[in-house]
Amino acid sequence: MLEIENLDKMYNGPDGVLRAVDDVSFHVKTGEFVAMQGASGSGKTTVLLCAGGLQAPDRGHAIIDGTDPYRMTPDERAQFRASNIGFVFQQFHLIPYLSVIDNVLAPSGALPDQNVNGRAQELIERFNLSARADHKPSELSTGEQQRTAMARALLNNPMLLLADEPTGNLDKENAMIVLNYLWEFAESGGAVLMVTHSEEAASYAHRTIHLKNGKLLASE
Ligand code: ADP
Ligand code: MG
Repeated sequence: MLEIENLDKMYNGPDGVLRAVDDVSFHVKTGEFVAMQGASGSGKTTVLLCAGGLQAPDRGHAIIDGTDPYRMTPDERAQFRASNIGFVFQQFHLIPYLSVIDNVLAPSGALPDQNVNGRAQELIERFNLSARADHKPSELSTGEQQRTAMARALLNNPMLLLADEPTGNLDKENAMIVLNYLWEFAESGGAVLMVTHSEEAASYAHRTIHLKNGKLLASE
């Protein structure tokens, strides 16, 4: 489902060019839930952005379901992302003036679908947000914002879900809801790549890959 091949990504930093991701290769198969761990600054978010069609690598490839999104036009790539990839950002990126339900429905414009309202309701219930559906992000706890971002990422039934610390701000109960959902999502034919600092969260995944200074460590 996701093939990362010899990925390099450089940034221009204050001390010159920084190699944030250095020759990283790994695969996430259909049905697989993979956790990614590594110290802060090790390149996890950069790998996720490249994998999600959001940031072109400097070298190597991120292939999703056999397709290289970076060979598409920007419009095609946006459409490809909307139909195939769910992305949960570390900083959520919720739309401040929209309610929870409208944030969850925000990606629906990209792909018109009759059942989208029902699906949004289902996700709201699933992630324990029913009492919050009409509230704005500023009226939510961080954990509620995180679950809203999760529901939004799943609205279009993506085949690949990329999640950056999706349980970082959740209490145990809500973390379990999210992790169980990710597990089921993978088991039902999706694929998940999840960045996490938590060993317990990683234990829900089928396997864990480790990044250090932009390089992938040998798998256990
Ligand atoms: P992680 O998610 O593991 O904390 P990141 O992928 O965010 O790591 O960052 C990897 C390295 O690249 C860090 O040293 C970070 O400071 C740097 N970096 C990330 N994004 C940018 C950017 N847009 N411009 C310059 N440097 C960046
Ligand atoms: Mg990060």
